Amino acid sequence: MELLKEKIRDIPNFPQPGIVFKDITPLVKDPAALRLTVHELIHPFVTEPLSAVAGMEARGFIFGALAAWELGIGFIPLRKPGKLPYDVQSISYDLEYGSASLEMHVDAVGPGDRILVVDDVIATGGTAAASCKLIENQGATVAGCAFVIELAALEGRKLLKDYRLHCLLSF
Ligand code: AMP
Repeated sequence: MELLKEKIRDIPNFPQPGIVFKDITPLVKDPAALRLTVHELIHPFVTEPLSAVAGMEARGFIFGALAAWELGIGFIPLRKPGKLPYDVQSISYDLEYGSASLEMHVDAVGPGDRILVVDDVIATGGTAAASCKLIENQGATVAGCAFVIELAALEGRKLLKDYRLHCLLSF
């Protein structure tokens, strides 16, 4: 895990003053680090019955799609407003920097589906909590949430206390 931590680059004051952005591009560029990350990300869930992985735009697409591939299941994109072409369900939430909305196709998940939520970073937990709500609003179950990086001081865990949480690297 220390090896993976070395592949995360801190970018101070991005995208706003006071934010230390965790840049995962050195990690995803390194084939061994990327493979280990995806393997470790899905590890607790490989024996779970899962229907699909849901990943948040945009970095959640990278890890989420690879996790889905490794698990042998499909991928559901949760996107920023106006990007999905079919009918959508929307949700708004607060971010560490500002506020945001996410959308999911209305036929993406349904009753009986068990979904694994994947993103690169959990900060305040707002994005992940909103994603879980989108999934549950359509009658599906959140089987767990997996993140590469946890910014522990922001206590995102508290917002996700009702879910099975798996974070690889804590900062
Ligand atoms: P939050 O909703 O506060 O948990 O924020 C998580 C979302 O914002 C994830 O999609 C992250 O990609 C992004 N994010 C928040 N804070 C950071 C950070 N310090 N470095 C990189 N990404 C971040």
